[in-house]
Order: sequence, then C-alpha cells, then structure tokens
Amino acid sequence: MTNTIFPIPAPALADIEGSEQKFPVYRIFCVGRNYHAHAAEMGVAVDKSKEEPFYFTKHPDTLIPSGSEIQYPPQTANYHHEMEFVVAIGKAGFEVSEDKAEELIFGYAAGLDMTRRDLQLKARETRRPWDLGKDFEESSVLAPIVPVAKTGIVNSGKIELAVNGETRQSSDIERLIWNVREIIAHLSKFYHLQPGDLIYTGTPDGVGAVVPGDRITGSIEGIGNVELKIAN
Ligand code: MN
Repeated sequence: MTNTIFPIPAPALADIEGSEQKFPVYRIFCVGRNYHAHAAEMGVAVDKSKEEPFYFTKHPDTLIPSGSEIQYPPQTANYHHEMEFVVAIGKAGFEVSEDKAEELIFGYAAGLDMTRRDLQLKARETRRPWDLGKDFEESSVLAPIVPVAKTGIVNSGKIELAVNGETRQSSDIERLIWNVREIIAHLSKFYHLQPGDLIYTGTPDGVGAVVPGDRITGSIEGIGNVELKIAN
C-alpha cells in the first residue's frame, strides 16, 4: 500500500439506477447558457451561428446524491437552483464526430448545478473566474444515473423544477441550444473524454433563489427525479 502522509481522499461515486455498482466520477463539466430563455434571463443572448459553447468545471468532491439535506452555503445571499440534464460518459473519446458522439454515453441523470449567484455575477462583472460562484462544496447534486441501455438515446423530454411544490422551471431538453451530440463532439476537441466524466448540459429559464427550509424537487421526463433539502 502506498505510504501517504494523510489518507487518500475517497473517490466521488455516483449511484446507478437498478444496480449495486457505482459510477466513479472523474470530472464534472458544465455547459454555460445552453437554453435561449435562460441566456436571456441572465442578460446575455446567444447566437449559435457566431458562437461556440463554453464550459466551466466543478471538482468531483462537490458531488452529493439526490435526497441530501445540506446547510445553506457560506458567503452568499443569493443561492440559486439550476435544474439540469446530465450526461454520464462511459467510453473514452477524443475529437469525436457528432455521428459517433452518442456511443460515448453511459447514461443520463437529473441534476442540480447549485450556484452562489451573487458571487458568480460579481466574478462575471470583474472578468474573474466563476469558481467561487459555481465550484463549491455540495454544489453538484446528482440523482442515480439511468443507463442508456434502459432509456435509449434521449434528446427530448420535459425538464422541470419546483421549490416547496411550486413550479419554478419548466422546459424541454429538446430546447438545448447545443444538443448532447454537439456538446460531446465540441468538448472532445478540448479534452480527452474519459469514462467517469459527467456533463451538466445547462439549465432552462426560471432559475431563482432558495432559502433555509426550502425543498427542491426536479424531474426529467423518462429519466428521473432529483431532490435537495436546505436545512433550517
Ligand atoms: Mn448550470
């Protein structure tokens, strides 16, 4: 056994629907502004004919399972929910064509890209990285991954989120500006995608703040549900 000065951190593991086996998470990529209505509410229009998708990353240790109860995070007064369709990569690929992109998919999950919006916007205004707004403890919520063998390739379906039972986000994943094929092909130009990579594909419009005591429930048609409770 390797002699380390402190215990090696436990790997991030995601649940797989209907399986005892776990999905070891290698990296978490997130797509920014991937629904027009959300880009508009953030005050930045997207012109697909002139732009490429962009990404930020979250460390795998930000991952927590659906159903968790967490403390309201530090250093924010505007903690936002972002409901997202998550793609789990099961095969390596580099410079993958759109035609072959779906072969890399292991499965899909419902997820939340929880965001300290005040810190993200402050970073955006000052042209600094978004890490403090995005890449923080317990900020990546993930439901069990549903293998593509069960769902088939998914490119449409309702995506919804409610806070305390009141609907806040309601859209369809067919409204993604860059769809899953396009994202995998594009992202794989910049990274050698690996089994264990997760891609949070972006949130639809309706993002908003949650406060202590709130319960978030989200769903993606044909994929599953995700839940998060903010402790009092
Ligand atoms: Mn997001």
